[in-house]
Amino acid sequence: MIVVLKPGIRRDEIQRVVERIESFGLRAHLSEGEERTIIGAIGDERLLADQTLESFPGVEKVLPILKPYKLVSREFQPSNTVIQVNGRRIGDKKIHVMAGPCSVESQEQVLGAAIPVKEAGATFLRGGAYKPRTSPYSFQGLGPEGLDHLAHAREVTGLPIITEVLDPRDLDVVCKYTDVLQIGARNMQNFKLLTDVGKLDKPVMLKRGLSATIQEFLLSAEYIATEGNRRIILCERGIRTYETETRNTLDLSAVPVLKQLTHLPVFVDPSHGTGRWDLVAPMALAAVAAGADGLLIEVHPKPEVALSDGPQSLKPPKFAALMEQLKKLAVALGREV
Ligand code: PEP
Ligand code: MN
Repeated sequence: MIVVLKPGIRRDEIQRVVERIESFGLRAHLSEGEERTIIGAIGDERLLADQTLESFPGVEKVLPILKPYKLVSREFQPSNTVIQVNGRRIGDKKIHVMAGPCSVESQEQVLGAAIPVKEAGATFLRGGAYKPRTSPYSFQGLGPEGLDHLAHAREVTGLPIITEVLDPRDLDVVCKYTDVLQIGARNMQNFKLLTDVGKLDKPVMLKRGLSATIQEFLLSAEYIATEGNRRIILCERGIRTYETETRNTLDLSAVPVLKQLTHLPVFVDPSHGTGRWDLVAPMALAAVAAGADGLLIEVHPKPEVALSDGPQSLKPPKFAALMEQLKKLAVALGREV
């Protein structure tokens, strides 16, 4: 439930309410907004049902959170979450474009993507060092060597990096390198990984599972948030349907739905969402029109020889052309790229 506090409530009064909530075995999450401070009481709310928290000094009202996810819900926090990463603000006016190859293949290949995407206006470099591949015989990623290549590309371009972690045992090494952790679609319900990432002080992008409902997606985000890490970015990347013209069906209505239900930033990945480079630009533009806070786009200097996802990767000139279109669209929407 949400305990709404009166403006001007004293610290010791807040502390008394927090202690009362915690004495029933619930967790108290303080959220200090510009106008109001609220406390989210998370846990078995029935334990608090008979408690008259409303009679505590400084408490204005007590409201139930009706959704099964609590901390990530808009009910709990009406204002948008803005995540700061190396001076960049995700979830604010600026639309962030994270671009780079599907997999890190070599130093030369990463730089061949990183330098032109930076020039075109991307604000993060993406690239997988640990790859979740459907076949055990496909390229599995370079692992730590790939992380080194990404770090070198960050030095050269100044772009912060985002890379996927597949296994909780790799978290230490991946965290040493990356600015943002990525949890891929296949791991959206790896609850051990979610819980471990929730204990870290590192922004995390959580991608929607291949067949996950929006409620399941938000409950996975809640696993991270309830451990303490609230710097979560959601990413719609297409879901499985009966359609075969595209690799997945990009669910763009998820964007406004998520914006209603949660305060977390919402990104869209039109590369995995379609599986086709020729559909990336139209769906990227549509995603921004639908209200996305950012995009995750695969760019490869030579898609024809890519070790993964070549057919959906843009060449740098096509990416630059898309960025020009995005800049114009952003102006029309009162945003910026
Ligand atoms: C990726 O972004 O490289 C990736 C593997 O995406 P997803 O988890 O959405 O399939
Ligand atoms: Mn990929």
